[in-house]
Amino acid sequence: MIKRALPVTREADFSAWYQSVITEADLAEESGVRGCMVIRPWGYGIWERIQRLLDDRIKATGHENCYFPLFIPLSYFEKEAEHVEGFAKEMAVVTHHRLVSDGKGGLKPDPTAKLEEPLVVRPTSETVIGMAFARWVQSWRDLPVLINQWANVVRWEMRTRMFLRTSEFLWQEGHTAHATQAEAVDETLKMLEVYRSFAEECVALPVVAGEKPENERFPGAVATYSIEAMMQDGKALQAGTSHFLGTNFAHAQNIRFQNAAGELELAQTTSWGMSTRMIGGLIMVHGDDDGLRVPPRVAPWQVVIVPMLRDQPEDEAIVDYCKALQAELAKQSGLGEPVRALLDLKFGKAATKRWGWVKKGAPIIIEIGGRDVAGGNLSVIRRDRLYQESGKLDSAVVARDAFVGGVGALLEEIQTALFDEAHARLRASIAPVEDWAGVEATFGEGVKNPGWVDVPWSKPTGAALDAVVERLKALKLTIRNAPMGQTGHPDQAGGATTCIFTGAPAVERVLIGRSY
Ligand code: AMP
Repeated sequence: MIKRALPVTREADFSAWYQSVITEADLAEESGVRGCMVIRPWGYGIWERIQRLLDDRIKATGHENCYFPLFIPLSYFEKEAEHVEGFAKEMAVVTHHRLVSDGKGGLKPDPTAKLEEPLVVRPTSETVIGMAFARWVQSWRDLPVLINQWANVVRWEMRTRMFLRTSEFLWQEGHTAHATQAEAVDETLKMLEVYRSFAEECVALPVVAGEKPENERFPGAVATYSIEAMMQDGKALQAGTSHFLGTNFAHAQNIRFQNAAGELELAQTTSWGMSTRMIGGLIMVHGDDDGLRVPPRVAPWQVVIVPMLRDQPEDEAIVDYCKALQAELAKQSGLGEPVRALLDLKFGKAATKRWGWVKKGAPIIIEIGGRDVAGGNLSVIRRDRLYQESGKLDSAVVARDAFVGGVGALLEEIQTALFDEAHARLRASIAPVEDWAGVEATFGEGVKNPGWVDVPWSKPTGAALDAVVERLKALKLTIRNAPMGQTGHPDQAGGATTCIFTGAPAVERVLIGRSY
């Protein structure tokens, strides 16, 4: 048995393993406020990479960044009934603007400093951005409005888990207004595709893009689409959402424009968001029993050089050799950007540093000792495949120049390998099931890692949908989404055309699974 770097394996306890990756990889820690976390430099560095790459894609599709206030007057929410109802139970509200002594050495809100109107700490910004759209849009010539903001939001979650579900989280929220429904629907689907391609190409996270069922829609939306990723324990993670809001918010916020014929019309709006939850997904998809494995595109450092110093005079030559290597690597390009190489000169033993970077998941770890310097070599550890088949750590001695020349290709290979591994697992873990008994069997007592099932359904609404939701709830299941690209008839897989819930003719297939 190989001794692993983490105190607990995925197999033994997946949820304890997840926490241990976060701790051992220095990603984040508890803050003292439940549900709020301190994101440490390695975790934040991954978030900065996610931000940069996603921001490029958001701008390339014509959107501009802007910023709206953290506080939103409660009355803004009250204008859209479904929206306020959906968010009411998780809103943090500011009611006072001054504290006074409580007479016991502490402080309390000053009753004379009560705000006239409570201010909600934004859980999402449709309402306040909608008010701005109403000011900005007068004529069809002002449309479309295509904006995005990077911000923190607060949703008072009762069951929190670091990165996956926190009370405060970081995200981007896109908001757009359009003259026609067709254009707004196009935008909703375009951003869903931006999320899909970003998740797959940058985070190496294979996902299924599709439409959420009615009961899972964003409060106030006409339609909600998501990308769903599968974690290594077979559970689903909603990793990004795109909403078509129709005229619901335009009506509430009075976003009207004069069309070409001179008549007043309501604008059609959309919104879409992706958050720090993505990092939780990255951990649960790519992590292993030695810690995190960060795909090169989102790794703050792609190559980490660890000098093997011995407090000997020859150390100086090793450090010089390492510095020259780092400078040369920085001139190479990999995955379309300059290679990000770090020389780790921190105090400490080389072996401790090596395992520190293994746990953090740096894609390539280079070790250099006196013998490497003499021979013009270096030792390479690929984090995506740490061990040889024999169970021995796979550390290969390579000629320095060959490594430098091939580093771009190697980073590409690692990026692809991580995606392919996760993709194969996703594909192997979705089973077509044609009746309810099949669902019960798949998710029966004691079945480990059941994955998802792909079933035909008739897309019931109202009370019939409520009954479906209840039936699934008993097995701790939810409908994840109806994958995009279905032709409208569910028998493409040769499956049944009868809804497994209602017995009515099926109109599409949906994915069902447990989720985070
Ligand atoms: P929503 O505005 O509800 O559609 O949320 C947009 C995205 O933010 C979701 O698809 C999730 O990926 C993410 N998200 C929602 N709630 C949380 C939370 N409590 N913590 C972290 N991420 C979240």
